[in-house]
Amino acid sequence: MFTQNTFDQEMIKDINQKKILQLLHLKREMTKQDMAQTLGLSIPTISNNSTILMKAGLIGEGGIADSTGGRKPVIMKFLPNSRFAFGVDISTTEVHVILTNLDSQILCEKKMVISKFEIIEEIIKKVSHTIQMMIKEKQIKEEKILGIGFSLPGTVNEENGNLEMAPNLGIYHLSFKKQFQSLFPFPIYIENEANTAALGELHLGVAKQMDNLVYLSIKEGIGCGIVTQGHLYKGKNKRAGEFGHMSIIPNGKKCNCGRKGCWELYASASALLSLYQEERKDYDKILLNKFFNQLYKKEHKAQVAVEHYIKFLAIGIQNIILALDPHYIIVGGDLGPYGDSILPLLTEEVFVKNSFYEKEDNTLIISALKKNASVLGASLLPLYKLFFYNSSIL
Ligand SMILES: [Zn+2]
Repeated sequence: MFTQNTFDQEMIKDINQKKILQLLHLKREMTKQDMAQTLGLSIPTISNNSTILMKAGLIGEGGIADSTGGRKPVIMKFLPNSRFAFGVDISTTEVHVILTNLDSQILCEKKMVISKFEIIEEIIKKVSHTIQMMIKEKQIKEEKILGIGFSLPGTVNEENGNLEMAPNLGIYHLSFKKQFQSLFPFPIYIENEANTAALGELHLGVAKQMDNLVYLSIKEGIGCGIVTQGHLYKGKNKRAGEFGHMSIIPNGKKCNCGRKGCWELYASASALLSLYQEERKDYDKILLNKFFNQLYKKEHKAQVAVEHYIKFLAIGIQNIILALDPHYIIVGGDLGPYGDSILPLLTEEVFVKNSFYEKEDNTLIISALKKNASVLGASLLPLYKLFFYNSSIL
């Protein structure tokens, strides 16, 4: 019979195995003696659980260490290519698919342009086909694939697998997991794009080991991912962090959300380009890289636009600091790759003398993973069950 006692024992075993795996992932290789000492567990506990992890192919023996007296200790090593995961980032213009190993190294990737008229069903079919091709190309056994993490541009309920709202894709209340799971032979996970990017920066990027951070995905709009105490903070209705729609100008520009003066109308990447168009009195479409090329050339109109823009961007960041007091505020999204050029001016504007905080209290920083932040974060979703014993989401 499955009693409470056996349940507890199974849970402790699971926790111990995850502790060993986490430690070896970090240190790469260690003797069982050193692992026992570091984790505060007995050598038999380490041995029993290491045997289970070895049978699962997650760790292996990596030679013999020098003896300090007695039998020479066996070195255990982490095997990064023992399991794999896929990350899929769906934006309004592009789908980015990556295959990663347990070290989050990108082993294979493909980007596909999507047209305005493509419906989500067609997009996911393309993703399924691409993933099958990648598996073939890399000759990976399906049982070694932990799953696929999807990064989606909208409000995501990761518990029931629904994409509640993605206005830019014209999607409302889509049972994403229910509808598309059958297209894939392994589990699928979903999360909002700014949240996956925040997870990417937390585990792999600029904010490694930082407990509290806010990631700003500055694109057509502004999405925010909040990490607090090492967990994603999503709120009761899964829409925490909609800072893009906090009003910064009373009776300001009218937003699609129905409100007026929303921050993203003034501080998104599109808003920056609009400011530049106004400055030039030329309203032809311009791309972000072209704008920054002009800025790097010190074109006066580009400089005026950016100075104007930074004032708006700073207001929202100041509000976020006052609301959450995060350790890191990470500027990413489409603006990420150009962020270094605006960081000094933005820092000056955000940390202008005030009675609450100083420059040293919070760190304003540019995304390290740049355009890969959300797709790498998505590829981490299937890995959570393997490495972590507590939920990553509050
Ligand atoms: Zn709005």
